[in-house]
Amino acid sequence: MNRIVYADNAATTRITEEVLQAMMPYLTENYGNASSLYSLGVKSAMAIDKARQQVAAAINAEPMEIIFTGCGTESDNWLKTFARRLAKKGKTHLITTCVEHHALLHSMARLEKEGFTVTYLPVNKDGFISVEDFRNAITEETGLVSIMFANNEIGTIQPIAEIGAICREKGIWFHTDAVQAVGHVPVDVKAMNIDMLSLSAHKFHGPKGVGVFYCRKGIPMDNLLDGGGQERGKRAGTENVAGIVGLGAAIEIAVSHREEHAEKVSALRDRLIDGLLAAVPMSKLNGSRENRLPGNCNISFVGVEGESLLLMLDHNGIMASSGSACASASLDPSHVLMSLGMKHEEAHGSVRLTLSEENTEEDVDYIIEVLPTIVANLRRMSPLWESIQKENQN
Ligand SMILES: *Cc1c(COP(=O)(O)O)cnc(C)c1O
Repeated sequence: MNRIVYADNAATTRITEEVLQAMMPYLTENYGNASSLYSLGVKSAMAIDKARQQVAAAINAEPMEIIFTGCGTESDNWLKTFARRLAKKGKTHLITTCVEHHALLHSMARLEKEGFTVTYLPVNKDGFISVEDFRNAITEETGLVSIMFANNEIGTIQPIAEIGAICREKGIWFHTDAVQAVGHVPVDVKAMNIDMLSLSAHKFHGPKGVGVFYCRKGIPMDNLLDGGGQERGKRAGTENVAGIVGLGAAIEIAVSHREEHAEKVSALRDRLIDGLLAAVPMSKLNGSRENRLPGNCNISFVGVEGESLLLMLDHNGIMASSGSACASASLDPSHVLMSLGMKHEEAHGSVRLTLSEENTEEDVDYIIEVLPTIVANLRRMSPLWESIQKENQN
């Protein structure tokens, strides 16, 4: 069998034909700079305006609240500009979680070096923060909170509307990294009292290298990039017109088909989770079973080295990931899995399979057919497997 199954949609997604076609004119004949006054430039400016409206409509924001950025990582880095502004008013405490993406965690670490105090909320075994813990963490100095919408490794969806309501009541600015959520689960910045939000096109079948930072009107913004007047002067630099157009097209498609896709993808995900848990002894699902991203399946196989499992899956045409793609370059166990209270060896034997609406039941059945044999073979070769089994019997 030489089937190819792409099951790493949390790392990135395939750009769709429709999105590519929407972008093409801006990579070819419509090359005008959006700041130029002749019609070739005006066409680019109009295309950006349209994309801004598409993004605003997708998350229930106003077009003027949308800033185009270079990626989700940049959007998360924007947080630092708000923290530094708040510090001038004595608001030097921030609250986040210990399961954030590194773009956020490393931004927070930078702020700590500058003298800020950061509370990292723990999560329970399913990956949820406690709203009670969150309330208790708020102090007089808390000015900014950043809690991710949905986790990129385990798919757990946080109680964002509840957190938003508390922040609004207390006058604290609330940011959410919604990179994994937008286009996959309902996101409404007004209903959920979200003040700032990060999203990235390549997580919903758009192009790489373009994202959005949403900031509710009325919140004062400092510039991230000084230069020309692009993005109201807040983020100078000639716009990535084709990328922005692609983001706009992709978000509109993702949101308009969201329910239909979510239904299909979550059925595939459940088939995969149930199939693997049934076929592999001593396997365990990581993350919440209920409030989970439609495409996310993250399972631990004790006695297996995750990296070896990935290589064997790759030999069989299956593309998956251990922990997050960003952490895979290192051999440290995922900070997210460790935050769930897992042991090193469990975290190391974890694989993340993330599906999209482009996957099929045949893809899922192929994974269920191939993966259990690989796990059994790797366990047989593991010097630890015998003792792990004995331990488990006791
Ligand atoms: C992918 C991802 C990012 C980073 O987005 P890029 O556009 O790849 O920089 C940030 N946060 C989360 C939760 C992500 O999944």
